[in-house]
Amino acid sequence: MSMSRIHGNQLSQVVIANLIQIRKSRFQTQTEFGKLFGVPRQIVANYERSSNYYISVDMLHAIGEAFSINPWDLTGELCPLCLFVPPPGFTCNKCGRFGTL
Ligand SMILES: [Zn+2]
Repeated sequence: MSMSRIHGNQLSQVVIANLIQIRKSRFQTQTEFGKLFGVPRQIVANYERSSNYYISVDMLHAIGEAFSINPWDLTGELCPLCLFVPPPGFTCNKCGRFGTL
């Protein structure tokens, strides 16, 4: 995806879709997931339900901090093995990322 082709909240939607994938694979509840960034469950639910939300740069930064990743990684395709969040203490063989969460 080239930046010049991004319209509306397309990039936000990629980030949100990736976050939904991560949330469902590693977290039991929206509440638990939201706590990582200090966001209440209802906000997480709204983001997951609607296609009209934008991720702010501040939110993207907070998410990157929470997962110890470069937040821009969330604007692209996730590593299918670890979803960019390997289990704590493990290194993903495919992307080389080290899990700290
Ligand atoms: Zn990986």
